[in-house]
Amino acid sequence: MARGRTHTDFLVVGSGLAGLTYALQAAESGSVTILTKAGVTDSNTGWAQGGIAAAIGEADSW
Ligand SMILES: Cc1cc2nc3c(=O)[nH]c(=O)nc-3n(C[C@H](O)[C@H](O)[C@H](O)COP(=O)(O)OP(=O)(O)OC[C@H]3O[C@@H](n4cnc5c(N)ncnc54)[C@H](O)[C@@H]3O)c2cc1C
Repeated sequence: MARGRTHTDFLVVGSGLAGLTYALQAAESGSVTILTKAGVTDSNTGWAQGGIAAAIGEADSW
């Protein structure tokens, strides 16, 4: 990665659901830079299938 200096109004660390949701909202108020660890899709969010996990059966436990 090239070293350099940049200016941004919002620096978001992480490109998962939380970071991207915040980045979308922040983009309405200024420039946004997203800093992430490896690949853009390298996150738990990339694995999520859209299900909702809950302990509701008698055999379930938190
Ligand atoms: C296999 C699997 C299946 C799932 N299925 C579901 C589901 O069906 N339904 C559901 O509701 N939830 C599910 N989840 C949980 C869900 O994916 C997470 O709760 C959610 O994606 C978390 O989002 P997040 O933005 O907080 O974290 P993440 O998506 O993990 O994002 C974290 C980000 O931070 C970055 N980061 C980490 N460390 C650094 C660092 N040092 N410097 C810079 N960047 C860094 C990562 O690269 C990543 O981009 C699942 C999780 C897994 C693993």
